[in-house]
Amino acid sequence: MAALSSSESVDEAAKEKKSPVGLVYDERMCLHAHPMDDDHPECPERIVRIYDALCEAGLAQRCMRVDARDATKEELLAVHTQEHCDFVESLEDADVRRENFMRLESKSAFASEGSAAAALLSAGSVVQVCLDVMDGSLGSALAVVRPPGHHAESSCAMGFCLYNNVGVASAAVRRAHPESRILVVDWDVHHGNATQEMFYEDAGILYFSTHRHDFGAFYPGGGAGAAKMVGKGKGLGFNINVAWNGGCGGMGDADYLLAWEHVLLPAARNFKPDLVIVSAGFDAARGDPLGGCDITPSGYAQLLRPLMDLCQGRVVIALEGGYNLSSIAASACACAAVLLGDPPSPADSNSPGPKRATLPSLHALRAVRQTLFAHSKLAQAQWVRKVPEVKVREAEDEGGEDGESVQAVERLSKKMQRRLFFEMLKRKTRGQTEAAASAAASAAASAAASTAEADEDS
Ligand SMILES: [Zn+2]
Repeated sequence: MAALSSSESVDEAAKEKKSPVGLVYDERMCLHAHPMDDDHPECPERIVRIYDALCEAGLAQRCMRVDARDATKEELLAVHTQEHCDFVESLEDADVRRENFMRLESKSAFASEGSAAAALLSAGSVVQVCLDVMDGSLGSALAVVRPPGHHAESSCAMGFCLYNNVGVASAAVRRAHPESRILVVDWDVHHGNATQEMFYEDAGILYFSTHRHDFGAFYPGGGAGAAKMVGKGKGLGFNINVAWNGGCGGMGDADYLLAWEHVLLPAARNFKPDLVIVSAGFDAARGDPLGGCDITPSGYAQLLRPLMDLCQGRVVIALEGGYNLSSIAASACACAAVLLGDPPSPADSNSPGPKRATLPSLHALRAVRQTLFAHSKLAQAQWVRKVPEVKVREAEDEGGEDGESVQAVERLSKKMQRRLFFEMLKRKTRGQTEAAASAAASAAASAAASTAEADEDS
């Protein structure tokens, strides 16, 4: 056997010494559950299924287990108000939960007896793995946590979220390492309104989100997720939204990869982060009941892999949404394999279901161009380059007639675009109603005909 050259020996030694991949999971986070709705999508089984799949695939065993821990008051107060922390803590009390049921429900949030404890663990666990990755005791990490966090505002629980886990962790890292730069990549299908708001004027945290926006009609709604939200004050240029509009979902691997190639990766390389935190909702995954998008497990692996090159692999994946149990388990496994350095497997490209599109859609190209346009005017955005002509998939793939309508819509004013979008939605709904009515009419007609036949027979 040939002796290794000195540089090969160094490489081999470095490989041997490679810091472990952390994994944090704690069953106590299952004690948070909707008190009335057993079929609520944000259910305890979400993290159980992910953890079981990681174990079955042998991935959990290759990670270093990190104990879940509570977030400290100090850590929470860096991004949340005292009043909000007191409120979440008080949810341990059954009377408080009863009195505040509607207050939470109106914000799409809920609480059970174990919610306050689970929320503390969820936030604290993300903080811990981020600090461990920053001090080098972990190379990267996966936090299988709930409740999720990116909708939880400074003073308000919202959208299944109680504390903003990634927000709390980002602030904790910045306190421990004041000069550090953090890139938050939010690939949850919903816009992370609260994370954006917390760091909107902060140049040390680059917030990037791809999400369904549907001209402000998709949750959390309004204009916060629009491409024109580019940051403010010192944070101008450090908030990047790629907002999917008009496609009514269906965005898949090729669409996300387009946003990565032309927006996220150039911006991230220019930013030079010390840590990447992924707000990893898997509700843009194929089969998700809320997202309506089409990312495959292989797609998530492809989105994650280039992030590993940004800062020597210092990436923390923190679970956000994702409601199809099989999809989130497969997606989390694909991501864990990337963190562990596994090469892409040939099986990656053979995800079950319809063949995935290899070309991006016109909607994706348009969204990417809108984001680049919004940033092109800012002095901070030297990374912006014109998107070359990109071949897009056929309009039929985007819903035929609607695909063509959307092309025409693009030439209109924003206000008119929004009005037309809702018109299109109404038309679709009316079409479905009419189809259902005509099906009912023909069923009634054939029932009447068979009754008449039976009458003739008798
Ligand atoms: Zn979500």
